[in-house]
Amino acid sequence: MKKNEISILGSGLIGSLLSIYLKKRGLDVHVYEKRADNRKGEYKEEGRSINMALSDRGWKALEKAGLKEKVLPLTIPMYGRKIHDEHGNTSFMPYGKEGQAIYSISRGKFNHLLMDEAEKEGVQIHFEHKIEEVDLRLNELSVNNPENGSETISSEVIIGADGAYSSLRNAMLKQVRFNYKQEYISHGYKELSIPATKEGEFAMDPNALHIWPRGSFMLIALPNPDKSFTCTLFLPFQGERVSFENIRDEKDIKGIFQNYFHDAFLLMPNLVKEFFGNPTSSLINIECYPWMLNKAMLIGDASHAMVPFYGQGMNCGFEDCYILDGLIDKIGTTAWELVFAKFQKIRKPDTDAICQLALENFEEMKNEVADPKFLVRKNIEARLHSLYPREWVPLYTMVTFSDMPYSEAYAQGKLQEAIMDKVMRDPLITQNWNKMDYEDIINQLDKAKSV
Ligand SMILES: Cc1cc2nc3c(=O)[nH]c(=O)nc-3n(C[C@H](O)[C@H](O)[C@H](O)COP(=O)(O)OP(=O)(O)OC[C@H]3O[C@@H](n4cnc5c(N)ncnc54)[C@H](O)[C@@H]3O)c2cc1C
Repeated sequence: MKKNEISILGSGLIGSLLSIYLKKRGLDVHVYEKRADNRKGEYKEEGRSINMALSDRGWKALEKAGLKEKVLPLTIPMYGRKIHDEHGNTSFMPYGKEGQAIYSISRGKFNHLLMDEAEKEGVQIHFEHKIEEVDLRLNELSVNNPENGSETISSEVIIGADGAYSSLRNAMLKQVRFNYKQEYISHGYKELSIPATKEGEFAMDPNALHIWPRGSFMLIALPNPDKSFTCTLFLPFQGERVSFENIRDEKDIKGIFQNYFHDAFLLMPNLVKEFFGNPTSSLINIECYPWMLNKAMLIGDASHAMVPFYGQGMNCGFEDCYILDGLIDKIGTTAWELVFAKFQKIRKPDTDAICQLALENFEEMKNEVADPKFLVRKNIEARLHSLYPREWVPLYTMVTFSDMPYSEAYAQGKLQEAIMDKVMRDPLITQNWNKMDYEDIINQLDKAKSV
């Protein structure tokens, strides 16, 4: 029977980056990926080519692997949200301080680059090798490949980076005292696009993440280097007037876009074809524990799949790789159980926190950003941050532009939220926010922290 030193399940974003980290240590790393190698043709994953927002935690992990400079040319900086109202008016809300941005990147192209880099390091990626079963007692994989059929592969270490429907997690589910929680939210999503103009230019500002918030649903758009935008439409599956179940034909979809997203509609010549041609996908939150058994461990979405509303799933998975690598630096590669045990203990409170924040941010994105008071609230927080940069850091900044543990960001964010809720109760806040006593707000925060 073939025996590997390290078997990673899945060559998605997290499996690929992790394979690079481990291979750089001189380990024998094999990656098993159920899909075919899609680097040869143009990348298109059945209308799910969604682009991602890469932010500080992700960049830090890429930098440690020596990949930052290679990834940068694939990205477009987005300095803030551009909110589109129902009349086509737009307003801009910076994400952070001047110059701070999150970076739009195509998931497919990014994944190709990481797989190329992994292979350059000497990682062996076995495409069309689906993990059917994992024997946790023997650390053996049952792998199916169309050419050779089923084979059993033994492995010193198994790492499950095989996403939200992980085969390794399925095996762990059968163990006693394994906790598992999954929740599909009411909404699903569909990919659409805004092509470049006839003149070959961007049809909208490329340096922003565009949002059309409409209460119970929303549309977003992220820029691509070819001057198009990838849009994602989030709708409830059913129950509401505007829902996937109530869009049955061309008239329905055009009616909704003309009514609610008119400025975007004018830029979307392929709307009908894409809406009915692209799949409708669901959104899931998954939490489980423990993540390890002996020398097998889960990482990335396999251990903590979150809804995409904080733009952190991939960034968090990359941070997993960074933290795991730091533990290997300290403990070495001869005590994997210890490395894995420490990893899950450190990391679980943080991934719980970001899963929760991602669920909460859904409300903010589809609803609150459309409220003019929301902009005032953000302005107050930005002012507080500029006056007291260490004392008051907006939650979005802590999550997106720092590497503070997510659980600490969550706790600090809750204290600030309670204070801001109080501040916003002032009926004259929209007029007075400029002249407020900011020192008093910081004192309130200090007091809240000391309780
Ligand atoms: C609409 C949407 C938008 C998002 N936007 C952002 C964003 O802006 N920023 C951000 O940070 N995150 C974002 N995310 C989250 C991000 O996509 C995920 O967190 C990230 O892709 C997780 O990577 P992964 O490698 O853990 O899992 P995956 O990307 O799911 O990769 C798993 C891999 O394992 C393979 N596999 C699965 N089962 C098997 C098996 N049995 N055998 C062999 N191979 C297998 C799969 O084919 C796949 O290649 C978004 C997610 C969605 C849905």
